[in-house]
Amino acid sequence: MLKIGLTGGIASGKSTVCALFKHYQVPIIDADTIARQLVEPNEEAYAEIIQSFGKGILQKDQTINRSKLRQIIFSDLVAKQALENILHPKIRQQLILKSQQQHGSYIILAIPLLIESNMHDLVDQVLIIDAHPSLQLKRLQHRDGISAEQAQAMLNAQCNREQHLACADDIIDNNHKPACLSKQIERLHQKYIKLSNGCQHSNSNGQ
Ligand code: ADP
Repeated sequence: MLKIGLTGGIASGKSTVCALFKHYQVPIIDADTIARQLVEPNEEAYAEIIQSFGKGILQKDQTINRSKLRQIIFSDLVAKQALENILHPKIRQQLILKSQQQHGSYIILAIPLLIESNMHDLVDQVLIIDAHPSLQLKRLQHRDGISAEQAQAMLNAQCNREQHLACADDIIDNNHKPACLSKQIERLHQKYIKLSNGCQHSNSNGQ
């Protein structure tokens, strides 16, 4: 099965594009959902995070305070690395496992930090959702109700636009109205079906 890695900067439109691919019944595996599940009480990463970050990271109901965790790693590179060392191998493992459980001609793995966390090897094609940084900033502020400074700091913590584009097999241009996305997605859907047919043909020939 063909695996498409969908990524792009924050507020570039990844969730918006995934929602549109769902209209084609394409299975989508979301690394953010996996990350959220992994830190729930009694899940794999829960105890390790408390061990590294202390019980101060817990809320009254014993769940991990994810926004506090985000704030800590934002200003502390060592803490960021420690959290990534706990989470990334587990996310990777889950992405592989969940990919193997899917059926269809192709699947999408939505991995916001695909490039930053070197997960290229998990996918056959990289699809970049592209928006100009000024649009990312505006949309991020609006979506999350944050200041321009906070939004800019979040953008700065990621790979930039050029670094994303350099990894692209395909690009969705999300610099215009949302209505401009449908045609691009239809075209890519057809391309991926064609590619996956080619893959199946080579596999059946034992190549
Ligand atoms: P990501 O998942 O990459 O962080 P989202 O899909 O959540 O980004 O998009 C960020 C915000 O921008 C959301 O509020 C979304 O509704 C909005 N948005 C996405 N695409 C467009 C567009 N083409 N025009 C205007 N707003 C958009």
